[in-house]
Order: sequence, then C-alpha cells, then structure tokens
Amino acid sequence: MAKKSIADVDVRGKTVLMRVDFNVPQDDSGAITDDRRIRMALPSIESVLARGGKLILMSHLGQPKTVEPAFTLKPAAECLSKLLNKPVAFAIDTVGPDAKSKSAALVEGGVLLLENLRFNSGEKKGDAEFAGQLASMADIYCNDAFGTCHRTDASMVAVPKAMGAKPKVTGFLVAREIQYLSDTLSAPKRPFVAIVGGKKVSDKINVINNLLNICDSVLIGGAMAYTFSLAEGGKVGNSFVEKDKVDLAKELIAKAGKKLVLPIDTHCGDAFSGDCNKLVVKGGEVPDGWEGFDIGPETAKQYSEIVRNAMTIVWNGPMGVFEMPPFDAGTRAVAEAVAQSKGTSIIGGGDSAAAIEQFGLADQVTHVSTGGGASLAMLEGQKFEAVELLD
Ligand code: AMP
Repeated sequence: MAKKSIADVDVRGKTVLMRVDFNVPQDDSGAITDDRRIRMALPSIESVLARGGKLILMSHLGQPKTVEPAFTLKPAAECLSKLLNKPVAFAIDTVGPDAKSKSAALVEGGVLLLENLRFNSGEKKGDAEFAGQLASMADIYCNDAFGTCHRTDASMVAVPKAMGAKPKVTGFLVAREIQYLSDTLSAPKRPFVAIVGGKKVSDKINVINNLLNICDSVLIGGAMAYTFSLAEGGKVGNSFVEKDKVDLAKELIAKAGKKLVLPIDTHCGDAFSGDCNKLVVKGGEVPDGWEGFDIGPETAKQYSEIVRNAMTIVWNGPMGVFEMPPFDAGTRAVAEAVAQSKGTSIIGGGDSAAAIEQFGLADQVTHVSTGGGASLAMLEGQKFEAVELLD
C-alpha cells in the first residue's frame, strides 16, 4: 500500500492543508502538559516550511460538541511557535472569515493553525459542505494524524475527497505507521510472532483472529489468558474473566491449534495491591481466593525465548498489571526480549507503548505506534478509507 508522501510533492508557493494530531493533554488552566504529539508532527511541518510551502494545520482537541472555549487550540499554536522558533498564525474559526483571510495572507514558509475542527458540527458528521470549504483553501492535502485514521471525520475523508484531482499525500508519521503496521505485516520475515495481552479478550478478538491468520505463533498474556483458561476447563480463582466470551475462546483454541500459546504458570495475589500475599501456580490452577495478576516466571522465560528467535514481532497489550510491581515482571521480561530481538519489532499503541516507555526500551524497538485505536484497527487488518483515498 505504498502511498505518496509529503516529500514527493513540490510545495513551493503552494498551500498545503495538513491534518495533524494536536490532541494534547492539558491541565485545568489549559496549559499543555505533554507536547509530544506536536513535536512528532514537526518533521512533516518543517519539510513544508523549509521548501517554501504555505501551511495550514488543522486538528481536533478533546470532544467538544460545539464551540467550547476550554478546547481551543490556541495553546497548541503558541507551543508550535516556540518549537519552530517562528510565528504561527492562529485562526479563531475553521472555515469562517478569520480562517479565510489568514490563509489567503500566508506567505511562503508561513504557517497557520485553524481553531479546533470539532467546534464545527460538520467535522464529526463528515459533512461535505464543511469539507469543501476547508479543501477550497488549499492546493495539496496531507494526512499526518495517524491516531484518527480509523475514523471518517470530515478532515480525514470528506476533505481529501473534496480535493478532487489535487495531490493528497501522507505526512511522515502516517507513512511510517503504514510501513510497519501494514506493509511489514503483509510480507513478514519468519518466524513471525505476535504477543497479545491486556484485560479483555473481547477487545482483541479481531486482532487475535487476524494475527492467527498471518503469524507463526500468538502468545497470550494479561487477564484475557484466564478466559482462555476457563475455556480449557481450568480454575481461575477470583481472576478477571469474561464468562460470556468462553465459547469464543474455545473456538479460537480449536481454530488455532499450536499457534496459540497460553501461559504455563500464573503469578497470583490475594488482593489488588503490590503488597498482597503472592503465589505462583501452574496455568489453569489458580486457587479460590487468589487472582492472577501476571504471567508466571516460567511463561516469561518461554515467551522471551520465542520472542528472541523471531524475525518479525508485533506486540499489543501487557502481560499483567504492569503498573503495579511486582506484577510488572512478565511484561518487563517480554519487553526486554522484544528489545533484544534482531528482528523487526512493532509495538501497537496504548498500554504496550506505555509499558515499553516505562521500561526505557522504546528506542531499542523498530517502531512504537502512536495510535491506540488506529493501531488496533490496523492489526485487525482493517482498511482505512482515510488512507485508501490518498495518492
Ligand atoms: P488493555 O487496555 O485491554 O490493553 O488492558 C490493559 C490493562 O489490563 C492494564 O491496565 C493492565 O493493568 C490490565 N491487566 C493486565 N493483566 C491483568 C490482570 N491479570 N488482571 C487485571 N488487570 C490486568
């Protein structure tokens, strides 16, 4: 699914409308508490500005239903201005008079951020009229908002449609996500191993199904392992389980055969606390009054061995309650094995990305996805209209 990127188009003197993800966390006073998402968009932004493009940036922030001043993107404009060390114009509307006049006034190398797209109800509705007005301001459309790529908001789908024959390209962030979460997985070097963990099997059922089709092994961890335990007739004590998903787990076990690898031991506690009494038991043998909080040490060793020998690895979801030591041990062991592997290692967003960061190993893996829901959807094998539409 090779897509044209912003580097492939001549932007000099042209107006580029770039969808970015400036959905940053803020404190009660509106101050940005983590500017990572803005910093991550800098390569695409700087590429346009350095080549004499006129850049209009658009993003959503939070989930306002209408104009809600608390969700203004003005602090993001100020933050970007500091990072770029140059002025960033800010429009107090999206397709109104301020946006129109400030976009028309852009000079080569100039940049404008529009107000929060979700202040206009047309954004969530995918409204063609709203999209047409956004598209009319630009010569080139660029999508660098991977976290929103699985959505069909106007700025993701209706805007590139409204661009007609004008160039529609990826930014560098989106290009990298597609390269790893789609291209690498469609032609993986083998052995190709997936590690799937987290709380609920119901959240990951489509991911597991898709990975079973394309991987050599799928290693299961996290609380979802106990639903599989029940499916095999095991005992789970007080562990978190989804009883209504046991039949589904049985189907997966039957379909997968040896490809699906379940924990051979479990690290249990007698209360949800790091200070609780602890016990390691064989898989499927959690006694009453005890709860599984992590894979056990034998499982950690076995999974690490499989992971170290893999040539392609994809990981989504922690092996246990990694936020609460000592039940982080299984997730840590797997993270270290992923980091040590010589293969291509891809970390799906969300909690596995948080875990790899927490262990300080993020720079030792090939790719850490920035999108939670979007990376999960891509691992499910979904095609995104927002990406398919691009050149
Ligand atoms: P998910 O969002 O489905 O990827 O699940 C991540 C969450 O699952 C994390 O907050 C973990 O603490 C939690 N988790 C993983 N294993 C367990 C477990 N054995 N018992 C309870 N919670 C768990």
